[in-house]
Amino acid sequence: STAFAGKRYAVLGLARSGAATVEALLASGAEVTAWDRQDVSREPFADRCAIADPLDLDLNGFAGVVVSPGVPLNTHPIKPHAEKFGVPLIGDIELFALARGDLPDHKVVGITGTNGKSTTTALLHHILEMAGLPAVMGGNIGEPILSREPLSPNTNGAGAYVLELSSYQIDLTQSLACDAAALTNITPDHLDRYNGFEDYASAKGRLFAMQKTGQFAVFGSVEGAAGAVMHAEQARRPAGRAGPADLSRFAPLQSEWPSLQGPHNLENVAVAVALAEELGVTEAQWRHSLPRFRNLPHRMEQICEEAGVIFINDSKATNPASTAPALAAFPPAKAIRGGSPRVHWIVGGLAKEDGLGECEAMLGNVAAAYTVGEAGPRFAELLEGRIPRVEKCELVSEAVGRARKAAMAGDVVLFSPACASFDQFRDYEKRGEHFRSLVGVIAEFGDCAP
Ligand code: ADP
Repeated sequence: STAFAGKRYAVLGLARSGAATVEALLASGAEVTAWDRQDVSREPFADRCAIADPLDLDLNGFAGVVVSPGVPLNTHPIKPHAEKFGVPLIGDIELFALARGDLPDHKVVGITGTNGKSTTTALLHHILEMAGLPAVMGGNIGEPILSREPLSPNTNGAGAYVLELSSYQIDLTQSLACDAAALTNITPDHLDRYNGFEDYASAKGRLFAMQKTGQFAVFGSVEGAAGAVMHAEQARRPAGRAGPADLSRFAPLQSEWPSLQGPHNLENVAVAVALAEELGVTEAQWRHSLPRFRNLPHRMEQICEEAGVIFINDSKATNPASTAPALAAFPPAKAIRGGSPRVHWIVGGLAKEDGLGECEAMLGNVAAAYTVGEAGPRFAELLEGRIPRVEKCELVSEAVGRARKAAMAGDVVLFSPACASFDQFRDYEKRGEHFRSLVGVIAEFGDCAP
């Protein structure tokens, strides 16, 4: 028998993780009532579960309402409705946590933060696999964890589930005690779904509050709210079980890792290695694997080099805090055009913040900005007079054309929008693919000249 046999669950939101949840619950003998505002009567699971809106249900007798992370809990009526019946709102990560007892012995790692989650998660997964430790990656990255093939039973407890967790997923999780957990950083983001920054920061903090005191926690940036979470955790744990990642250990090595350039990646490396060492990876092992890591697409992805100009796709940078390290990665160099700034920055989209936030401090690296999208005019106004040149463009295609014309050998054309993509694109992936095709190489990731 499993953790879910004979229990009743309502599932609200049947996109990828919702559909995987329904299948996993049905497979483990639960009774499921599923709902989406779109018609789901043709879904493969439709004839094996009831279809009804949980808002119309008497929830007495339900073990939980599984909510998609896309449902805004701060405004959606499901929250008060479920509370009226005393039924918890949970997500697929909570179901995974509840089912851990049914799995063979294993470790769980949780990684959260505003920026750098995916890079750190993919990097840890890469280090573990190269060290011969079986690892399954899931959560906010790649496939939903409930549709992944579980670890094989003969790993003798050495295998690990490596979970990237968004704050929305943590909001829907109550009982995940990670053997090791990490916070990359906390800066303002997603504030439309929280009652202010503190509320958002405390959602991240809950990942650590769910751990037992002997479990391990590591922190990439300890500025502001992240530092507050770290201090709270240090206060309740034995020495050495919670603390900052040691960046100084890695700085001298960073030039050996092509996919992990820039100060932000130093933090990501320090965090991933701390987690890997906690799981038993040796220094010799991680040193072997880091140069072999390929970053995920759309994150500081070097597309190609054309006449000495490097084109970088950083479409995943959807807020100023994630664009700032991209700008920081290309400081002026004496040997290149006498030390004049060399970044041709394509910026704009649907702004998440009013200003340029943390990018302000990096403007010294910018030779020219090409502003695009809805935020374009506002950004142009902010940048005017503070960098050598500002060119107002509407479309990314126009910006790429102008940047390509203006850039000289040693320069960098950096597409790091600091904005969401939804004004002109379906998502940041489509936006990045568009940039890639404009630059002229629709090649497979990693296929560009170094
Ligand atoms: P997430 O999964 O948290 O969105 P990613 O690893 O996909 O993070 O990176 C998102 C964006 O943030 C990229 O533009 C990347 O260059 C930038 N970034 C990556 N790591 C960090 C970090 N530690 N601090 C700040 N920005 C980062």
